[in-house]
Amino acid sequence: MGDRAKSTRIAILREDRCKPNKCNQECKKSCPPVKQGKLCIEVSAKSTMATISEELCIGCGICVKKCPFNAIEIINLPKALDKETTHRYGVNTFKLHRLPIPKLGNVVGLVGKNGTGKSTALKILSGDLKPNLGRFDNPPTWQEILKNLEHELRNYLNQIHENKLKAVIKPQYVDNIAKEANDMIVGRELEKMDERGVKAEVCVDLELNQLLDRKVGELSGGELQRFAIAVTVMQDAQMYMFDEPSSYLDIKQRLKAAQVIRSLLTPKRYVIVVEHDLSVLDYLSDYVCCLYGNPGAYGVVTVPYTVKQGINVYLDGYAPTENLRFRQESLTFKTPQESVEEIQTYARYKYPSMSKTQGDFKLRVIEGEFTDSQIIVMLGENGTGKTTFIRMLARGFIGEDPFQPEAEMMETFVVSYKPQRILVNSNGSVSSLLKKRMVNIHDSQFVSDVIKPLEIEDLMDRNVQDLSDSEQRINASKVIRRFILHNKKTAFVVEHDFIMATYLADRVIVYEGKPSIDCVANAPQSLLTGMNLFLSNLILVMEVDKVRVIDENGLKTFFGHSGHQRDQIDVFLFLLA
Ligand code: SF4
Ligand code: SF4
Repeated sequence: MGDRAKSTRIAILREDRCKPNKCNQECKKSCPPVKQGKLCIEVSAKSTMATISEELCIGCGICVKKCPFNAIEIINLPKALDKETTHRYGVNTFKLHRLPIPKLGNVVGLVGKNGTGKSTALKILSGDLKPNLGRFDNPPTWQEILKNLEHELRNYLNQIHENKLKAVIKPQYVDNIAKEANDMIVGRELEKMDERGVKAEVCVDLELNQLLDRKVGELSGGELQRFAIAVTVMQDAQMYMFDEPSSYLDIKQRLKAAQVIRSLLTPKRYVIVVEHDLSVLDYLSDYVCCLYGNPGAYGVVTVPYTVKQGINVYLDGYAPTENLRFRQESLTFKTPQESVEEIQTYARYKYPSMSKTQGDFKLRVIEGEFTDSQIIVMLGENGTGKTTFIRMLARGFIGEDPFQPEAEMMETFVVSYKPQRILVNSNGSVSSLLKKRMVNIHDSQFVSDVIKPLEIEDLMDRNVQDLSDSEQRINASKVIRRFILHNKKTAFVVEHDFIMATYLADRVIVYEGKPSIDCVANAPQSLLTGMNLFLSNLILVMEVDKVRVIDENGLKTFFGHSGHQRDQIDVFLFLLA
């Protein structure tokens, strides 16, 4: 009874999975309150989907187990959250609790799992969606909406409601911009949006000058991202929202984009940034709100924390302000340790110095070696030849180049390649695509290493076209690590998220030189020396006044400011300009 009083129940029915005409309505037949004559679950073979009464449900969970399509979720939440319902789209659908609180003159960062209400929150803060406090069948007035809100949020939403505040948003999926603005010319579009008269400097900062004559539909992922950020910052608004501004950008471009975003700040402006790259989030934000919940079922926004607190709350999976554990395990990033004996048991592969010229671009690769069970992270700006190098390994390019007259034949490698930008051409389901591409989809090791941690089972019946390409990065990194170790393969990874790169890398290849012109791929080297070489190159282009580091205890040890001697630092984490 005590627990019941403290918790509230939500029942979620997945629209894409509930198929009453393909099941025997097992949910309804097995529900104890239904057996007692109560209308707890209503469904017939002719219904489009079932409905569950959250008031009558006793939370036994039987329907969850009986449904053949895994369409039902029954979740207990703290009762206190009931009063803080911000929005619900309809019966048995996603529910958002609270909102991020915008703060004048500050960047509020938002971090959390996809599907927990970020888009809903941004739509409400931009004025595109009127919050209904969960009363989808009896929508509240603005007066009711504003009544119990925290004063900063109330002020903000009141201005949105009265149309006194302009909010602009950089959308998450920049690929959609390419589809919508396909034939538009980049320079002309930027000209049109330049309400603040800052086009010239924004184009320099975001490296857009060489793209001004191109069509938007021809831009690459990184170019589209920079274009989208430029279009957003050039408008004259009071609220600027950026949904994942660092996707597709390399580290240098991420830092530049972050600087451009922070340059918006005045005492009269709000900025909110949704960001999965924790280094960028750290760099950009003055406050951090975490978003937790079950994807597609519910989401809760925490109060704004200081940046360090917010990132640690996210990593710990525990919100002290509400005494709530929202993830069973905390996320840690231990850097790999291996013994000398272990290394000696690995198979070694060598490749010679080689070079490749493609049009105006020349790449020189310095000879190196790698072993199986090893992850090599390639660090460099976009356009420094990382993909070219992988292709050289895959196809044995050596000998084709006139700069290498004495070239010898090199061993070629079978390469499986996941590109940066995912273009989905398949029309089938996820499971049919996996079966077509893979022979060992039911292999128990593969299931426990890959399928389960990536929650692929939940996606099996979905159409490939419906999938979002923003992955759970930390999970994906752990999956790559485990898969490579257990299968004695080698992975070459391009990862611009500094924390993920540090977590993944056994060795690093640092790319130097002028992107798209003349670059060198150094030999694989240790994480520490490689990171330091890469960061010392970055120091040349960025003003640095603060360094944060990661040590063997993981990310959570944040050292203060610069002044650390290089040799005291195990691994550099990030540079704050
Ligand atoms: S919830 Fe499951 S068992 Fe119930 S009607 Fe939908 S598909 Fe059938
Ligand atoms: S969890 Fe609720 S809806 Fe499902 S069977 Fe039990 S009482 Fe019925």
